[in-house]
Amino acid sequence: MMDELKQQFYEVMHKYQKPFSEEGVTANLTQWYEQKQGLLQLLRRHPLWNEKELAIVFRVEERREIDRATVDETRAAILELGRRACTDDTVYENFETALRASTADYARIPNEYRLDTIRQYGGIKCAPGQKASRIINRLCLKFHLDQIEEEAEAGEPDNRYMRTVKPYNALFARLADALNPAHIEKTAVLSIHPCDFLEMSNRDNTWSSCHCLDGGGYRGGCQSYMGDAVSMIFFTVSDEYTQDFHTAPRITREIFCYKDNVLLQSRLYPTDLEDQKTLYRSIVQQAIATCLDKPNLWSIKRGKETEPYCESAADSNHYPDYAYGYAVASLLKGETDYGKMTIGSVARCVCCGGEQKNHRSIRCAECGSMFVCKGCGKTVHGYGRYIDEHFYCNECSYECTVCKEKFIGMPRIGIARSGEQRGICPACYEQVVGVCRNCTIHGDCLSIGANRFCPNQMNGLAA
Ligand SMILES: [Zn+2]
Ligand SMILES: [Zn+2]
Ligand SMILES: [Zn+2]
Ligand SMILES: [Zn+2]
Ligand SMILES: [Zn+2]
Repeated sequence: MMDELKQQFYEVMHKYQKPFSEEGVTANLTQWYEQKQGLLQLLRRHPLWNEKELAIVFRVEERREIDRATVDETRAAILELGRRACTDDTVYENFETALRASTADYARIPNEYRLDTIRQYGGIKCAPGQKASRIINRLCLKFHLDQIEEEAEAGEPDNRYMRTVKPYNALFARLADALNPAHIEKTAVLSIHPCDFLEMSNRDNTWSSCHCLDGGGYRGGCQSYMGDAVSMIFFTVSDEYTQDFHTAPRITREIFCYKDNVLLQSRLYPTDLEDQKTLYRSIVQQAIATCLDKPNLWSIKRGKETEPYCESAADSNHYPDYAYGYAVASLLKGETDYGKMTIGSVARCVCCGGEQKNHRSIRCAECGSMFVCKGCGKTVHGYGRYIDEHFYCNECSYECTVCKEKFIGMPRIGIARSGEQRGICPACYEQVVGVCRNCTIHGDCLSIGANRFCPNQMNGLAA
């Protein structure tokens, strides 16, 4: 198991182009393994436990009705955008009338008698039975709402900056979603896999949080949760993923912690929606009760009332959402002993394996410029290059001196006019030698050796 986990851990480091060493990764995994033993033994009792994923894997079905409040809200925002996109009041009023007609029924498909209004004021085609979202998109493009730009805040809470965005697509997606009642089948995963901690805010998600390894202000927090005895990652992914869940973008994600009859639920990302949180809590309560072989009966504590049940480990690097009002504690009924759990741990540097207390990093400041080569598996200090999103050392890769492309393996050797040897790729080598084949002194070139003095050769390698 540990060897496979090491390779998977490496893959995450390659993906985010982080310096790391075998020693550092091993230190992280050793701490994880020792600390998570209790949870591992507990969760393994669940019939849906998946040893390869180190997780309980559930199917969940979420039902969603048409969300009138969101329809109202996004329509108002889209009208606002329309006001800026329309050249004069009359044009805007036409847009407004057509948009209101398309959404007036709060239905996936507008009533047929609305269509004339939409056609007349919107100047677009629309057929009976067509989805409201399609009609709205056509309407908005007709009035050029997709061209409107604005300044928006981006980045992390402690590192804000402004950038220019086009808000239309996000607004439209939200409106289309709200107008679409659905049964959504998802896969839910309750995991203690180390990479699920590293990827708790996978950069491929549609949302981001401060625990993202790619620039997150609390990226060190991933290891903090990974190395403690109580934290689990609960997340949902779309149906198309059936394995290696730690590589999948997360639709939602939250931390659950369990110890001594207390189940703590932390903030749900990206939106801390009460309905969803209740559903996920019931799934995890049921799972833990099954593992404990106890009745699935819990009492709930919220906010300040959760304080007696949890604390953060000293010098831990994670962002403690649970300490800011997001925590919901479930206490198993009929028990007398409810412990206080310690959340988080002192993280281990992914380079030297030593203690690392900076929440903005996954390694200590003194460590850096060391990588495990994807080719030879050695930890190399110094240089190499990323090829196909993996790090390769200088012995396992080269950059062609002619075309400047990077390659895995050994280069062909060409000799420049100056007599120096140059590493070149097979394609460039062929080209260079090909030129010589056509030259008038080809025979001489060959007899002198290595074609080195051919005037036609190595122009690309000059000096
Ligand atoms: Zn890979
Ligand atoms: Zn270090
Ligand atoms: Zn190598
Ligand atoms: Zn080349
Ligand atoms: Zn020649």
